[in-house]
Amino acid sequence: MQIQENVSLKPYSTMRLGGNAKYLAEVHNKNELIELLQWSNGMQLPTVMIGEGSNIIWTDNGYSGLVIVNKISGFEVERIDTKQAKFTFGSGEPWDKTVQRTVELGYSGLEQLSYIPGTVGGTPVQNVGAYGQEISNVLVEVEAYDSQTDQFVIIPSEQCGFGYRTSRFKTNDKRRFFITAVSVKLTKQHLQPPFYTTLQQYFNDRNIHEYSPAIVRQAVIDIRTSKLPDPNEKANNGSFFSNPIVSDSVFEKLNQQFRDIPHWIVSKNKYKLSAAWLIEQSGFSKGFQDIDTGMGLWPKQALVVVNNSAKSAKDLQSFKDKIIKAVETKFDITLEQEPETITNPSDN
Ligand SMILES: Cc1cc2nc3c(=O)[nH]c(=O)nc-3n(C[C@H](O)[C@H](O)[C@H](O)COP(=O)(O)OP(=O)(O)OC[C@H]3O[C@@H](n4cnc5c(N)ncnc54)[C@H](O)[C@@H]3O)c2cc1C
Repeated sequence: MQIQENVSLKPYSTMRLGGNAKYLAEVHNKNELIELLQWSNGMQLPTVMIGEGSNIIWTDNGYSGLVIVNKISGFEVERIDTKQAKFTFGSGEPWDKTVQRTVELGYSGLEQLSYIPGTVGGTPVQNVGAYGQEISNVLVEVEAYDSQTDQFVIIPSEQCGFGYRTSRFKTNDKRRFFITAVSVKLTKQHLQPPFYTTLQQYFNDRNIHEYSPAIVRQAVIDIRTSKLPDPNEKANNGSFFSNPIVSDSVFEKLNQQFRDIPHWIVSKNKYKLSAAWLIEQSGFSKGFQDIDTGMGLWPKQALVVVNNSAKSAKDLQSFKDKIIKAVETKFDITLEQEPETITNPSDN
């Protein structure tokens, strides 16, 4: 196990921006994790564990502690009965390869989450979701090292504090747990319609009436690759802003002024709005390029902020501020950033 010093963090965020880490090390198993944590504790360093950096942004100040890059592997299957099985994945496994393996074994439950970048360990943190599925719907438990009690713990799904794109790992217990494994329960039963609108449209257009995990996975991959940039080719963090959730009174007021405002009812008195639509209506169309900052929007999806030629994380911040201000001026709604900006204790 090698601890490197003064390492550029640009390759450790798919936005490819940020300063240097004081220390950085890869971790391959639980023993190495304990060793690293003992070392960083001894040095009194702030410590963060990351996967592929597909949901994080570093600042130009970098990170003044230890960055642990997760490479913990593992893939185990435990059959429950003829139809169901419990799968346990090492948290450093690449997520999409893991989904592919479950699909190849004929199991359903993860196919709608195909092609999401990142590691297995990143998925419970923001309760990843796509095409009508969320990891919390199939997650059984998470294994993690608890830095408060200095021991490995098993956290059942009900105790993960899951919500829309959130969990206790992202909120109340941020940085407390170092996730080492994730278990899910999957089934051999195929999904049935109706599907999420774009997925259903895909099946209708192609006259597809069979919904094996492999067929659904292929549909999701086709749709995603037609709409989203590959972070290996164009630096980005996927959806940069969350879709705002507003009260019915706020919605009614907006709807009177903007009759065509896209919306979804999420619960009693709560409406979800389309952040992409708000951004486009505020003067930032798909493919917008900001000459001042080198940032822009993806030509097929206005919600995806891309780094065309930015020189620093400050450029991203300026571009983000421009969008937030324009949306606030037009709609009186403040957009919130979805990827996490990782800061140093001394920056705050
Ligand atoms: C093109 C693109 C499309 C995307 N599409 C979607 C989508 O459809 N749905 C969706 O929900 N997300 C999407 N994302 C966001 C992202 O891919 C997911 O959130 C992913 O799960 C992050 O995994 P990661 O390993 O890269 O985590 P990182 O970005 O490295 O880390 C994210 C957070 O999780 C924490 N973390 C990571 N691993 C661990 C661990 N083992 N233990 C403790 N904490 C940990 C980090 O400290 C950080 O706080 C997309 C991103 C991109 C670039």
